[in-house]
Amino acid sequence: RIAAVDGDRDSGVHAFLHVDADGALAQAAASDERRRDGEPLDVLDGVPIAVKDVLVTNGLPTTCGSRILEGWVPPYDATVVRRLKAAGLPILGKTNMDEFAMGSSTEHSAYGPTRNPWDLGRIPGGSGGGSAAAVAAYEAPLAIGTDTGGSIRQPGAVTGTVGVKPTYGGVSRYGLVALANSLDQAGPVTRTVMDAALLQELIGGHDPLDSTSVDQPVPALVDAARQGASGDLTGVRVGVVTEMSGDGWQPGVMARFQESVDLMVRAGAEVVEVSCPHFVHALAAYYLILPAEASSNLAKFDAMRYGLRVVPEGNPSAEEVMKATRDAGFGDEVKRRIILGTYALSSGYYDAYYGQAQKVRTLISRDFAAAFERVDVLVSPTAPTTAFKLGEKLDDPLAMYLNDLATIPANLSGVPGISVPAGLANEDGLPVGLQVLAPALADDRCYRVGAALE
Ligand code: GLN
Repeated sequence: RIAAVDGDRDSGVHAFLHVDADGALAQAAASDERRRDGEPLDVLDGVPIAVKDVLVTNGLPTTCGSRILEGWVPPYDATVVRRLKAAGLPILGKTNMDEFAMGSSTEHSAYGPTRNPWDLGRIPGGSGGGSAAAVAAYEAPLAIGTDTGGSIRQPGAVTGTVGVKPTYGGVSRYGLVALANSLDQAGPVTRTVMDAALLQELIGGHDPLDSTSVDQPVPALVDAARQGASGDLTGVRVGVVTEMSGDGWQPGVMARFQESVDLMVRAGAEVVEVSCPHFVHALAAYYLILPAEASSNLAKFDAMRYGLRVVPEGNPSAEEVMKATRDAGFGDEVKRRIILGTYALSSGYYDAYYGQAQKVRTLISRDFAAAFERVDVLVSPTAPTTAFKLGEKLDDPLAMYLNDLATIPANLSGVPGISVPAGLANEDGLPVGLQVLAPALADDRCYRVGAALE
């Protein structure tokens, strides 16, 4: 299937940056053998999976969609990858992404964009467009993504797949190349809510190698998905977020969203409108906090330690090698955010920008806390529009950032969220996603409500 539809950077879906056919077939053969020998098998043993290229994989290239990591082959596995392998899931390969996970369309990949399987002229969302497109195009039944500001949920929404951002700390970040450490979270990209539940139960749970990993058992997600699948939401209190609708939200997206809300009411849920007044500042706070953390993280790409090294003519100093390497190795969006982040962190501006953004972050968490006193879950459309055309927002960073309006608040306060398909928009026939947010550590609620809407 990958050979038939994936193509290359100029044609096809281009969900994969690297396919490990030999490795995956060997892992599949080992799985068959375990089955023949009657060994006790994990429920997902033998089910192939694609992994976003921001998670390190022992012996397989890991580029983060960047030239600066071209040719780098990590010597170890991320905890998520290690758990997948231990449970017998063949790793199909590494999926395309915006460079260092910065973007909402996968067009910022240094290796060319991924295309949306629903319409190859449109974007598959981002930054994890590769993982979502691979699942949507039936190239992989399961995939792993990462979500720092929506990069699992928004690609899920625009490709008609299920995407989950677990509670911050619910899935280990060990071996996840950091974009913004306080926001990053890995999670499932699948075709059904039950698949996602099985996958999160497998990859989630405490990891001593990640100091922010939550030391608690994973909630019973499969049970919650099963409960939701019965279609009964009696007693569930649902809050519709006032701030996640209005001008700029595509009518067809809002229409499908309203239908989902009606469905919840018919399923027995109690639906009320809830205002989270500080959510309107989430985007501004995020685009200060994220570049600040990212600029610091990206300092390690110094031409000495990893991947690319560009050596100018003559007898260059280490500084000149570093400069030339970064100039050639980083794309425009990455450079933009390094400049923004370095500026926001510099003395004299720190309090005015970074400090202020952190205060907004606290206010957003308080909005969530107040909302979750009244309701069990919050719902909204996952993204304001369906998949837009390739190139449409590439030269307008602000227009690109606006895609993340509904997804960012969850990252700023660490709460879990799921995006489930909510049908197709009337005006363009493209998938719409519905987002369900729950309090930290109550990921099971996302699964219950998500499964009820499937
Ligand atoms: N669109 C967001 C950004 O560009 C999403 C990032 C992410 O979740 N990795 O920062």
